[in-house]
Amino acid sequence: MGDITGFLKIKRKEAGNRPVNERICDYSEVEQILNSEDRMLQASRCMECGIPFCHWSCPVDNLIPEWNDMLYRGDWKGAYKRLSETNNFPEFTGRICPALCEHGCVLNIQNEPVTIRENEVAIVERAFTEGYIKPQPPAVRTGRKVAVIGSGPAGMAAADMLNRAGHEVTLFEKDEKAGGLLRYGIPDFKLSKTVIDRRLDIMIREGVMVKTATEVGKDISAREITEAYDAICVTIGAGHPRDLQVEGRDLDGVHFALDFLTAQNRINDSSAPESISDKSARGKKVLVIGGGDTGSDCVGTSIRQKAEKVTQIEILPKPPLSRAESNPWPHYAKILKTSTSHEEGCDRYWSLSTVRFIGKDNKVTGVEVEEVEWTGANGKSLMSPVPGTKRIIEADLVLLALGFVHPVLEGMISELGVELDARKNVKVDRYHATSHPKVFAAGDTVNGASLVVRAIASGRNAAREINNFLNKNT
Ligand SMILES: Cc1cc2nc3c(=O)[nH]c(=O)nc-3n(C[C@H](O)[C@H](O)[C@H](O)COP(=O)(O)OP(=O)(O)OC[C@H]3O[C@@H](n4cnc5c(N)ncnc54)[C@H](O)[C@@H]3O)c2cc1C
Ligand code: SF4
Repeated sequence: MGDITGFLKIKRKEAGNRPVNERICDYSEVEQILNSEDRMLQASRCMECGIPFCHWSCPVDNLIPEWNDMLYRGDWKGAYKRLSETNNFPEFTGRICPALCEHGCVLNIQNEPVTIRENEVAIVERAFTEGYIKPQPPAVRTGRKVAVIGSGPAGMAAADMLNRAGHEVTLFEKDEKAGGLLRYGIPDFKLSKTVIDRRLDIMIREGVMVKTATEVGKDISAREITEAYDAICVTIGAGHPRDLQVEGRDLDGVHFALDFLTAQNRINDSSAPESISDKSARGKKVLVIGGGDTGSDCVGTSIRQKAEKVTQIEILPKPPLSRAESNPWPHYAKILKTSTSHEEGCDRYWSLSTVRFIGKDNKVTGVEVEEVEWTGANGKSLMSPVPGTKRIIEADLVLLALGFVHPVLEGMISELGVELDARKNVKVDRYHATSHPKVFAAGDTVNGASLVVRAIASGRNAAREINNFLNKNT
């Protein structure tokens, strides 16, 4: 433990965000960077608890107290080495992880957890600047071939680990560039795409072969892949969006959130001209249905596109401002979240269900909503409409941010014929093995839509099992 009384002397200090009036005029990252001296002081607040609940809360098992101590002592290189033992891409999680660790931090009992996520990104960015991160191709190749299908964080992590183990890895991606939802879902103002390119460049120089614009099951059959490779890791995400089949769903101007976000990410990437987007929020009244993170990303993107007004509604009740008794520390705190996008200006409503979309000349003009009441006992929640509360919210762009139900099953998954679970995710055993003898799976494809850090953890675990499988079968 670096400074035994650090947490008593030093207050939590966040790097903070760029001013609202500046950041809404561009798509650059919102979060700022703290100077190195303050960052090391923040690391000194870590108490190196006997039982580090932060470590327990982190899906990749980051050794948080260890690298915080090194950071406090100014050993940036040692801190990076320790961090990279458990996390392939701290530059992603350090930017966009909801910091499950900070919810478990003992100092969070006083609502002042260590700035773990920001410390993580500071360590990895310093490592890039100082040149500690260089391509390190494996010394020996095994001669075994692995196909990783889908290049989101799960696929990237699996490919990285398997390549390090000396296998010949090909990462297949249907889109024109690799990165999955990191690239085409998450807006640039949360994660700059140069951060993904920088990591992919290292992986390619280490020997990972990346084949983009190649949809397995369409451009190349699943049968060809299973014949040509010794093992396959399926990491295609959970791309089937949840829909809202109510009256008026077919009206122009009602879109899935991801289509809207992807269009803007492609424009920023110069891979699509702004004029092709029929989904632009410019000058429109935008209604985002769904109160989660994807919805919040739609809010920030609509504001940058110069929407006239942005409203976000959620069917669930408004979360409390502080932990409920049933949700104690060190569990993830289910409390009201106000994102940087919300700060930029939007009206938010809870306990509202969508009755129907209303339109004129086949274009959406508004949404009829109704208040709902939630009652519950024995862990079961019951929703009932509140009579006399129907009203119309005007909208000429409606974005459905209702989550994802399961992977896209048409094409590769049905061709492979792998067994599915009750939710129609790909079913795997504890070794990440599917019902097909050569096929493994990881990430949102097996867990359902989740988080980047969970996808990385899952990809790492699948890679370990694939490596064991290949070693057993040599
Ligand atoms: C808008 C949005 C914002 C989010 N924000 C956050 C956030 O801030 N923090 C966070 O932790 N999580 C966030 N998430 C969740 C996170 O992005 C996902 O949980 C994570 O990306 C899942 O990783 P994955 O590798 O399993 O799948 P994905 O990232 O979905 O990648 C799957 C890849 O497989 C490709 N693919 C699909 N089928 C084929 C095929 N047949 N052949 C070849 N390639 C194929 C897809 O094109 C895609 O590139 C967000 C999600 C969304 C939608
Ligand atoms: S990956 Fe997420 S949960 Fe783990 S230490 Fe980093 S910010 Fe915390």
